[in-house]
Amino acid sequence: MDGKALAERIRGEIAEEVRELGEIGLATVLVGDDPASDIYIRLKHKAAGEVGINAKDIRLASQTTEEELLEQVAQLNADDSIDGLLVQLPLPDHIDEARVIRAIDPAKDVDGLHPLNFGQLVLGRSVHVGVIPVGVMRLLEEYDVPVEGACAVVVGRSDIVGKPAALLLLHASATVTVCHSRTKDLGAVTREADVLVVAVGRANVIGPDDVKEGATVIDVGMNRGDDGVVGDVDPATAERAGLITPVPGGVGPMTIAMLLASAVKAAKYGRGLVAFPGV
Ligand code: NAP
Repeated sequence: MDGKALAERIRGEIAEEVRELGEIGLATVLVGDDPASDIYIRLKHKAAGEVGINAKDIRLASQTTEEELLEQVAQLNADDSIDGLLVQLPLPDHIDEARVIRAIDPAKDVDGLHPLNFGQLVLGRSVHVGVIPVGVMRLLEEYDVPVEGACAVVVGRSDIVGKPAALLLLHASATVTVCHSRTKDLGAVTREADVLVVAVGRANVIGPDDVKEGATVIDVGMNRGDDGVVGDVDPATAERAGLITPVPGGVGPMTIAMLLASAVKAAKYGRGLVAFPGV
């Protein structure tokens, strides 16, 4: 499944929308100097610039206090030139991540992590939803993968990937199983999957023997090693799978494209073109 090509097409469509809507502002806040976060932020800004979104790159020192970060978030919430905002995770240990996420204006919460948006997702009334799981669903849609009635297995239960992916699959009427580090006999569960989404953060956690012949496998993993970036799924699994996302070039580019789409959505809420439900 070519996430790179699909993301490129979507970015073209977003650029058109941005031209129609006029100025759109997307702010990112990065606390500290984590190299992986720095790469993600750079990719997001490059992609935003290419579609005409004004991206504001706010960098705060690693010793920034929780109160200072909350003050920064409050300023961005109040800034009419900022339609969407995200705080890059993970935050340094001395900052309460949940408190910072709760401080983000839900209508500007392009990552879909605010409890209001997460609650709407649980209820099936999606507003802002995490960009990674939305990208996963968009890939399934693009490749006409049957989801309704399918057996879907999600490996990983994080708030950013596993849980929202499981909920989106459930709302699309799949029969969903969520696996995690305490799952007994992971392979026995994943071999049942028609659609397998893997978001663990460990290379080769799934191999060819862990998938059903012809299954669709979505590899969300991005693990940096000596050989560059690899996914969570052994590439040899491609021989057994019907469809599989490569790493790189699968979920990663889709995530960035979905973030841009989320910023456009936020701009529509901010301008009252679409009513923001729930507040
Ligand atoms: P995370 O918060 O660390 O969650 C990992 C999940 O995997 C946890 O639920 C954990 O279970 C589970 N797990 C760990 N070891 C396992 C095992 N041996 N068997 C089954 N489950 C196991 O990670 P995340 O933020 O969801 O990220 C997952 C992956 O996606 C990472 O590789 C990350 O780099 C990648 N990622 C990709 C993108 C992208 O754009 N493609 C963006 C962000 C992240 P417990 O809950 O029991 O601990």
